[in-house]
Amino acid sequence: MNLPITIPSPSGYRGRFAPSPSGPLHFGSLIAALGSFLQAKSQQGKWLVRIDDIDPPREQAGAASLILSSLEAFGLHWDESVVYQSQRHHQYDEVLTWLKQQGAIYPCDCTRKQIMAKGGVYDGTCKSKTYVSSPHALRLNNKHPVPHFYDQLRGNITIAHEFAAEDFIIHRKDGLYAYQLAVVVDDIEQGITEVVRGADLIEPTVRQLTLYQLFNAPTPSYIYLPLASQKVGFKLSKQNHAPALNNQQPLLELVKALQFFNLMVPKEFIALAHTNYSAPSKLKNDINDLLNWAIGQWSLDTLPKDKEIVV
Ligand code: GLU
Repeated sequence: MNLPITIPSPSGYRGRFAPSPSGPLHFGSLIAALGSFLQAKSQQGKWLVRIDDIDPPREQAGAASLILSSLEAFGLHWDESVVYQSQRHHQYDEVLTWLKQQGAIYPCDCTRKQIMAKGGVYDGTCKSKTYVSSPHALRLNNKHPVPHFYDQLRGNITIAHEFAAEDFIIHRKDGLYAYQLAVVVDDIEQGITEVVRGADLIEPTVRQLTLYQLFNAPTPSYIYLPLASQKVGFKLSKQNHAPALNNQQPLLELVKALQFFNLMVPKEFIALAHTNYSAPSKLKNDINDLLNWAIGQWSLDTLPKDKEIVV
């Protein structure tokens, strides 16, 4: 069996925003959406949106369409059709079959409790098993761990060996695909050349690079944006009850997000952000003007390098 992943030929910059629909967009996710959008557009590239809906227990009904309507309200218009991971299971199934054929994965029925009792890092207990009867996860036999990578913003990043070298999960015990597998398969097939996302995803990057290596696919470059936090160690997230973005005040939220990126938003836009608009078309034009201004200003040199910023 050949590798069932199509590697497209290069066609210029392609970036993406890939939210999990666990709730509506909040300021933290606006940072990832806007940062990836501005980076793509400043390179005259394409900006794609993918809904990472492979984990139903963590999802909220209707969140995907709320996210898409917020992006539209904020003038963040995507190129090409939105891809939904929930519609790509056949693809992940084929890749799983290929991995099995390569002998690259093995079944593991260890419980979280057993792994925690051994220090929390999986030690390869089941490596030699080819069959287990009970519900089990499938783990990658991680023969060639990738210990570091280059972040365009922060330079070389080295990840703890035990994390990079762990035989991580590809297919979960509950039957769901692991994020690591789906994200790599999709980023490859969508021809993503650069991944711009929040700094909470720095660590898993090395696992994703291990998969790129296994698939012999070209790797994207990476930019990790600072996380917006409500206090140190508490990034804005659904779990931390971050409020949904106010779609009625897109200019105000956009101005705040641009200032988060250290951009000196001109006074005129700040004044407009506090205006009550009666004409939706005027609001749309002003959003476009602000975004076009930001695309012109966008530069990695002035972006904050912190891993988190309290807002
Ligand atoms: N879907 C992931 C999330 O919302 C992000 C995926 C990615 O950008 O790689 O946390």
